[in-house]
Amino acid sequence: KEEIAKGKLIMETADGEKAFKIDELEEQGMGRRENCQRCNLKIPSNADLALGNWGVIGPLAGKATFVEVFSETGADVLGKVIDAGLIATEEPNPKGVKIRENVNNFMLKESQAKKEIDYAGTTGDIIDVFYQYEDEFSKCMKCYGCREACPLCFCEDCCLEAEGPEWVPGGYTPAAPFFHLTRLVHMVDACTNCGQCSEVCPCEIPVAKVWSTVNNKVREVYGYIPGMGSDDPLPFTDHVSKAKKL
Ligand code: SF4
Ligand code: SF4
Ligand code: SF4
Repeated sequence: KEEIAKGKLIMETADGEKAFKIDELEEQGMGRRENCQRCNLKIPSNADLALGNWGVIGPLAGKATFVEVFSETGADVLGKVIDAGLIATEEPNPKGVKIRENVNNFMLKESQAKKEIDYAGTTGDIIDVFYQYEDEFSKCMKCYGCREACPLCFCEDCCLEAEGPEWVPGGYTPAAPFFHLTRLVHMVDACTNCGQCSEVCPCEIPVAKVWSTVNNKVREVYGYIPGMGSDDPLPFTDHVSKAKKL
């Protein structure tokens, strides 16, 4: 059995309970992925339902799940599960609700601190960020893993594979910067900081951190938050009208 509580990873083993501080695990690269540490959506309010243990206190701690409903679909699903007798529910404890809010606020402060560290030393402009990470990108072997893993890179006919001059002559590395710059310009405005690109990179290039740094600038300038189900057009597809607002 394992659980995360009070900033610790707690594991129950045959030899008893062992607890590890999350901060220390993350310093050693063993905690949450770095994109999760940066994320400012600790409770997924963009989903229909959010399930977790923040706010479950007293005798129910460790035995119940806090369910927060964010949409009619979520309410409908929950209602059907309750009507089917699959789960037992009760109103949340007001003290637990307050604790949930406090934990969320604390975690949001932590992610803000992580962002400040990650985005330090650059303006967030594409060329500036790319220059800062030039050494990292010099390790790129152009395996296409980041593009393949990216949920926003879904074009059936990707221009990076177009016929024409080779981006990287066979046997040569690294990839020309245009490989990454092209992908950045195409979709960085929609980057959700999901971390998949970093996860798959065999060269351990912090791809998601680079994209997130530029996307943070896009958020500042355009006020567009990707992944929240907005009907607004993506900033780079509506550049003229957004620019007029500045
Ligand atoms: S972090 Fe951004 S660029 Fe990387 S895979 Fe996710 S959406 Fe794509
Ligand atoms: S790099 Fe550009 S063309 Fe290729 S899949 Fe991504 S968005 Fe589409
Ligand atoms: S996954 Fe890494 S090595 Fe592969 S193309 Fe992307 S940045 Fe380069």
